[in-house]
Amino acid sequence: MPTLFSLAEDIRKCTACPLWKGTTLAVPGDGPRAARIMVIGEAPGEEEDRQGLPFVEKSGKFLGQMLEIAGLDRKYIFITNTVKHRPPQNRAPKASEIKICKELWLDKQIDILKPKLIIILGGVALKTLTSETSVEKLHGKTLEKGNQQYFVTYHPSAGLRFPETRKRMEEDFNKLKKLIQHLT
Ligand code: URA
Repeated sequence: MPTLFSLAEDIRKCTACPLWKGTTLAVPGDGPRAARIMVIGEAPGEEEDRQGLPFVEKSGKFLGQMLEIAGLDRKYIFITNTVKHRPPQNRAPKASEIKICKELWLDKQIDILKPKLIIILGGVALKTLTSETSVEKLHGKTLEKGNQQYFVTYHPSAGLRFPETRKRMEEDFNKLKKLIQHLT
């Protein structure tokens, strides 16, 4: 049985899809084994590729602010992405890349952590984890699929770009605050 640590080591060596080409560091994910909440974004960006960590700098600060609204501290949460290597020029990861990465890594991370709740950031993670396609329709709501509970919100890059989306995200994280009080 792998551990989060052994998975991260294997992820750093992964060449199973072409995304690793041209990257600096893989971004396996970050957070403690005891995390009860997981956050899943889309794909590492430039700074994440440089540091090997998810959601750093601007997007990381923004995510931290949102989590804070819900009374959450990122150091107790496991944060990762649908794919572990940065796509070239920050293009969206392809379905084939996501499929390989999910089966090899994300599913195993979820299996080890068995999180009480997975916070889905944006459409790519939503589709990957639930097959649903509308963040517009589902943001601020919880979904249950295959015994796993999810909470849906927008991607931080949308919140950073559009003040209206930021407002909605703030509302979503306020709802999340109430929801997690009832997490058993
Ligand atoms: N956007 C993501 O989806 N993931 C990161 O790690 C950083 C930015």
